[in-house]
This record gives sequence, C-alpha cells and structure tokens, in this order.
Amino acid sequence: MRKKIVAGNWKMNKTIAEGLQLVDEILAGSNDDSVLKIIAPPFIHLAAVADKLKSKEGFEVAAQNCHQAAGGAFTGEVSAEMIASTGTNYVIIGHSERRTYFGETNQLLAQKVAMALANNLIPIFCLGESMEDRNANVHLETVKQQLKEGLFSLLPADFSKVIIAYEPVWAIGTGVTATTHQAQGMHNFIRSEINKKYGKDISENTIILYGGSCNAENAKELFACLDVDGGLVGGASLKANEFLAIVNSF
Ligand code: PEP
Repeated sequence: MRKKIVAGNWKMNKTIAEGLQLVDEILAGSNDDSVLKIIAPPFIHLAAVADKLKSKEGFEVAAQNCHQAAGGAFTGEVSAEMIASTGTNYVIIGHSERRTYFGETNQLLAQKVAMALANNLIPIFCLGESMEDRNANVHLETVKQQLKEGLFSLLPADFSKVIIAYEPVWAIGTGVTATTHQAQGMHNFIRSEINKKYGKDISENTIILYGGSCNAENAKELFACLDVDGGLVGGASLKANEFLAIVNSF
C-alpha cells in the first residue's frame, strides 16, 4: 500500500514569522494522520519548521533544492548535509522553475539526487513536459528521458527511496490543471517505465504525486486516479485552510 502524501511547496514566499504562523494554523486544523503532509519552506525557515514539526505525527519537512557538491566554495548554495542537519528528511529536486530559471539539466539533477540520498534525504524528483512537448505529441518521450537521465542510473535500493512528482510545466501556477485522463495516463506511463527498468515490486511501490494548479476543488478527482498518490502543491499550500482541504481530499 503506497503512502498518501500532500506536499506544500512554498517557493520564495513567507517571512519566517509568517511561515511559522502558517505551520501553527496547519497543525491546529489537521486531523488526519493517514496522509503524510510535507512542508517545503525556503531554506532559511527549515531549522525552525523542522523543530516545530519534529514530534508531530504525519508531518515531514522538505527543502526545495540542494547543491550537487558535498560542500566547499559555492557561495550562496546549501548542501544536502546542511539540510539534513536541520532535521529535514526530504528535498525537492528538479522543480520546473529550477530547470527553467536556473538551467538545471537531467544530468545535474542526477548528481543532486545522488547527493541527497548519500545524506539520507528522500528526493521528491519533479518531471513533466512543456505545452510545446504536449502539442507536438512528444510528452511521453520527454518524461521518459527525464526518468532515464535523472533517475535510472540509481541502484534499485536507492531508486526505491525516491518519490516522483509529475508536474506538467503548463499546469504550474497557471490555474490550468491536467485532466484526470492526462494525469492518470502519465502516472501510469511513469509506473510502466519504472516496471521495465526496476520490476513490478518497485514500480508498484513508487509514490507518484501530481503537481500543477492542484486545489481544493480538483484534488478529489485527481487523487481518485489509480496511479496518483497525492499532490505537490504550490499556490494552494500558502493558506492553511486550502492546504488542509487538499489533504482531506483522498
Ligand atoms: C509547484 O510549484 O510544484 C506547483 C505545483 O505549483 P502550483 O500548485 O501553484 O501550480
């Protein structure tokens, strides 16, 4: 039985005071421990948020990125080891905003995944096609390439720790959501590619989240899809009531 997860990616939003208040509101309104709630605040909030959530059942914390090197002269960057030292157990890798604005390639992301795993962080690996890809009917090929180059060099034992987030780029922050047909179709495709590479057991146990304008209105039908195990949520994770409504959508 795969874990149900809703992860909130705050992106570059919230001061530390606002972030801690949001965590308090989510904690106050949360009543379902069967869904794992992962909060991904900006780096500088991690230690405080991890501290607040450390003994709370059903909650985990994620960083939004990590550097591929173990440490050293990389001004302004944050290592996987530093993230882990805050009590954070997860890290988002390969978000489309990182791929688009910071030029992160599949090859670089494979290095980040390896560094995260070496520091006992669970990667939430994002992939997804652009609208151009979908219009040109090459969306399956794009995602296959992202899987192959970003993840499929991992040994089975390491791959089985990874969470995948399918986030069609055209749905992120746009208010346009994938239809259940599109989401289920791609999640099923991803699972079948994992099956080909790592076998049935691992493919059936891999958690695949959907991301892209997920909200309280559309979460229920998305989460009802056979291969959708939850959501990676941006905008709607910035308000406690919206985030919790999504958590309660299974
Ligand atoms: C995201 O940032 O991962 C995301 C899915 O954003 P939004 O929910 O705002 O589309």
